[in-house]
Amino acid sequence: MESMYIHIPFCKSICSYCDFCKVLYHGPWIVKYLESLEKEIKNRYNGEVIKTLYIGGGTPSCLINRDLIKLMTIIKENVKLSEELEFTFECNLSDIDEQLLDVLKLYGVNRLSIGIESFNEKKLEFMERKCTYDEAEEKVKLIREKGFDNINFDLIYGIPNERVKDLKKDLELFLKLKPDHISTYSLIVEDNTKIAIKGIVPIKEDIDAKMYEYICEELDDKGYEHYEISNFCKNGKYSKHNLNCWNNEEYYGFGVGASGYIYGVRYDNTKSVTEYFKGNYLLRENFLSKEENMDNELMLGLRKIKGIYLPNFYKKFGVNIQDVYDLKNALKEKELIYKDDYLYVNPEYIYVMNEILIKIL
Ligand code: SF4
Repeated sequence: MESMYIHIPFCKSICSYCDFCKVLYHGPWIVKYLESLEKEIKNRYNGEVIKTLYIGGGTPSCLINRDLIKLMTIIKENVKLSEELEFTFECNLSDIDEQLLDVLKLYGVNRLSIGIESFNEKKLEFMERKCTYDEAEEKVKLIREKGFDNINFDLIYGIPNERVKDLKKDLELFLKLKPDHISTYSLIVEDNTKIAIKGIVPIKEDIDAKMYEYICEELDDKGYEHYEISNFCKNGKYSKHNLNCWNNEEYYGFGVGASGYIYGVRYDNTKSVTEYFKGNYLLRENFLSKEENMDNELMLGLRKIKGIYLPNFYKKFGVNIQDVYDLKNALKEKELIYKDDYLYVNPEYIYVMNEILIKIL
């Protein structure tokens, strides 16, 4: 186990599309939450050296300085961290200031993931988020001055009534800020979100596909490597933490609503903060069979543009992937490509990868 995820569920306001495990910011709860989190880590963590640590949310950057230092101290006192640690911290743009960056730097954070999502006023209004390009420019300048050289921006597209030209403008502004990594998300109308309750309908698939194609082409043109369906980076600055998940490797997940995969068991924590306070961390766990594990290896591995390294599949499961899954048709149709010991989705079909997987599985 080389990876650890810690979930901080607090947010200052709730976005219209949000399906993550989150609660409105409430100072006294944070103190209690951190106490529970420390207990959970002490209970479940077995002392492995951690190479990727990801603090996500919610909005971890909304913690006040005292609580943030408490969180970092819990980690420092309880978790063995590798000297080559990739330490990612999710931030909301408006929370970023010198004080926050100094604390993050002091405790070894070396990758910032910033939920910008868009600069388009209409899109932001729809998402119930706030952000301006000028603010982002000022904050990115400060981040660089503080010595952070690995920044991710999240971008959301496919908002109802969004046109390809709106996306173009958004991406142009994102690129002006020179992020090292960009994660893109097409809007999904998840059940029980504000937009689902309002009856919002997702954009048409052909427009969504055009937008995806535009993103891939434009980022390729600007020197970003497309290394996972929705993720792009420059200069080899992959998200090592996420690559660990796509490689179907194990990881700890701590905090309310977190998921983890340890010792062959996938688990989900409770989404109820009050249950979490009582120490009832676990919601469910699933002991994976070899078949389920192989299915996960296939589904996650094909998300990577490089695909699955077949000798590695054999090493893990003692069988050849072709003997488990009937890939003949997908290979014949050139939906999948087998080359140099890798099996990957033909880039021309990456947008319909799920349909390819359904046929195979
Ligand atoms: S999208 Fe992020 S910031 Fe918005 S409510 Fe959800 S967790 Fe909080």
